[in-house]
Amino acid sequence: MPYAAASLPAGSRTPAGSDPGGVGHHGRDTVAVHAGRADLTELGVHAPPIDLSTTNPLGDVETGGSAYEHMAAGNPPRPGDPNVYARLWNPTVARFEDAVAALEGGEAGIAFASGMAAMSAVLLACVAAGRPHIVAVRPLYGGTDHILASGLLGTEVTFARAEEIGRAITPRTGLVVVESPGNPTLDLVDIAALVAAARDVPVLVDNTFATPILQRPLALGAGMVLHSATKFLGGHGDALGGVVVTDAVTAARIRPIRAITGGVLNPFGAYLLHRGIPTLPIRVRAQQDSAIRIAAHLAGHPAIRRVYHPSQPGGDPMGLVGEGRQMSGPGSLLAFELAGGYEAAATTAKRVRLITHAVSLGGVDSLIQHPAALTHRPVAAKAKPNDGILRLSVGLEDPGDLLADLENALS
Ligand SMILES: *Cc1c(COP(=O)(O)O)cnc(C)c1O
Repeated sequence: MPYAAASLPAGSRTPAGSDPGGVGHHGRDTVAVHAGRADLTELGVHAPPIDLSTTNPLGDVETGGSAYEHMAAGNPPRPGDPNVYARLWNPTVARFEDAVAALEGGEAGIAFASGMAAMSAVLLACVAAGRPHIVAVRPLYGGTDHILASGLLGTEVTFARAEEIGRAITPRTGLVVVESPGNPTLDLVDIAALVAAARDVPVLVDNTFATPILQRPLALGAGMVLHSATKFLGGHGDALGGVVVTDAVTAARIRPIRAITGGVLNPFGAYLLHRGIPTLPIRVRAQQDSAIRIAAHLAGHPAIRRVYHPSQPGGDPMGLVGEGRQMSGPGSLLAFELAGGYEAAATTAKRVRLITHAVSLGGVDSLIQHPAALTHRPVAAKAKPNDGILRLSVGLEDPGDLLADLENALS
């Protein structure tokens, strides 16, 4: 097995010059525990406080007006400034943003009510900048595919294969959008090569599946990283959120869009998502170990035609995982195609007992779902996943119990 747990790096360093989480140049696991918490001892508390204020006393009109102006232009508040209004700034949300930015090695994080609210703000920023053309590489999460294909926000999309994006870019292109590993079949895209082909157009990588524990797109040249924080970052299936990590200049363009359209993350959600982050590295590694084992087992199962996971033969054709060029491990999402097609897939999803038949992924408990019928339902027929495929998000249960549940459901 090429990906033994011991072969994974214990944690790498945050790059010099950026320290949004206030944790200095510590290992990744240390950053996960402490990012966004650096001031707690000084505050005399041990857990991050939840600031529920929607509005804040302003002092005099001049001070309030100047703070408003400064934040409405996309800047974090200056020391001593009032936060004015929670749609502009909230300290609990900022802690979560700093933690994710520190893990991704970016200058700033901007948190949203959901992953789709984050994607919407980024797309509106392209429209606002007069570059509404988006080049996107499929497969993508169904909601992302839908918002791009529908043009709902005034964007125009060209779907291109990774090798073709150089030709798809026009002077009106504001962004290249990619997921690697892609949802649901774990297709891998060479991010560094894509960034080179995109020339001066920023590349947004949806890093929801990989998490910053396995892959850091900014270090590969991506301009923005996006997460559905609902998934691995929170990790417990109890808070919806999204986050974008980018450089300070781009962040200052996206924050006003969040303030104007109102898709901001709420403080309770931010607290829960931030609470998930200290265990993110250990969860990702443990879930990955089980996924490798389950993928290998399913690959030898007579009811299964093909297993999609980067640990499997053919799953990492460019050596992006195995050689550690892009990811330090294959992750804990996998998909498999049933030999019996749709009927067999639907039956299996219905027959699992320990594993929950539900959409979403990346939590402590295992979830299985049918992408063509559910998460990828709005995707155009020609880009829709095969309807014999199920997607499995492997959780923290004993892998032997998960295998027994799958065996029983498949029999
Ligand atoms: C779930 C998901 C999204 C959307 O996030 P929400 O928090 O559900 O809005 C975006 N990208 C990927 C890869 C996802 O899995």
